[in-house]
Amino acid sequence: LGVFDALSEKLQATLSDVRGHGTLTEDDIKKAMREIRLALLEADVNFKVVKEFTTTVRERCMGADVMGQLNPGQQVVKIVNEELAALMGGASAGISFSPRPPTVILMAGLQGSGKTTATAKLARHLKEEHNSSVAVAACDVYRPAAVDQLVKVGGQVGATVYEQGTDANPVDIARWALDRAKQDGKDVLIVDTAGRLHVDATLMDELVQIRAAVKPHTILLVVDAMTGQDAVNVAEQFAEAVNFDGVVMSKLDGDARGGAALSVKAVTGKPILFASTGEKLDQFERFHPDRMSQRILG
Ligand code: GDP
Repeated sequence: LGVFDALSEKLQATLSDVRGHGTLTEDDIKKAMREIRLALLEADVNFKVVKEFTTTVRERCMGADVMGQLNPGQQVVKIVNEELAALMGGASAGISFSPRPPTVILMAGLQGSGKTTATAKLARHLKEEHNSSVAVAACDVYRPAAVDQLVKVGGQVGATVYEQGTDANPVDIARWALDRAKQDGKDVLIVDTAGRLHVDATLMDELVQIRAAVKPHTILLVVDAMTGQDAVNVAEQFAEAVNFDGVVMSKLDGDARGGAALSVKAVTGKPILFASTGEKLDQFERFHPDRMSQRILG
């Protein structure tokens, strides 16, 4: 996965070095922790998160169960793996469905984060994995062509698209779409909302109004993994203003800085639920912290 390539390479080099030692001294561990800290900082992981992570890993590595072992290197690798998974959220979380359909999912995020793409990808995922009948609502009336884009990609994944063009009020569209979804007996309604280039009061205010109109069961924040710590700051601002239940981490196939994926859970307390890994509509999967950690460490 693109965003983790550089980090992966460095962590693997460090751990392979550690694994090569028959016995480990305190200095060996200290050196390894220094390298891990640097690798994480270069991946643009939040400074405090890095500090906590390396402290935890170091303390566990210095424990008697590691230093006294015949194969301490192996143990260190295991600890880093476990802590990396814990950092990304530990157990994999899923979205919950309403006992009284339609389940309403609200998609939020900045413009360009990959929100409209993720809306269609999630619709496809729910159809394939849960056999759900899915409708999507086009409430991003500001970005030029966002409605047309959703009509196109929604159609490609076989979702019903509810849209009223770009002149209608997004809160009204959302309310109307929910009525339609009920009439049409849909299992799930995914509401695509407007993004802005930056977090601002107008954006948050509109989201709060749409939230009140459709009472979503789940609010997902789409976050661009390629924007590093900026992405985490954006998530913090959304958490404060509208709150959300989980993150869709998009563009994990990108070429830099996996830091957002590694710090967003620790900083906001919200788990990453889905990973988007390319422009194609099937490049989307449930996010499993343990599998991701294993992928990073090779
Ligand atoms: P929105 O403004 O948040 O609705 O963003 P879009 O869904 O239109 O996505 C913005 C751009 O990012 C588009 O060119 C998408 O094709 C692209 N994109 C979205 N998700 C991914 C992803 O996971 N990987 C890559 N490489 N590109 C993506």
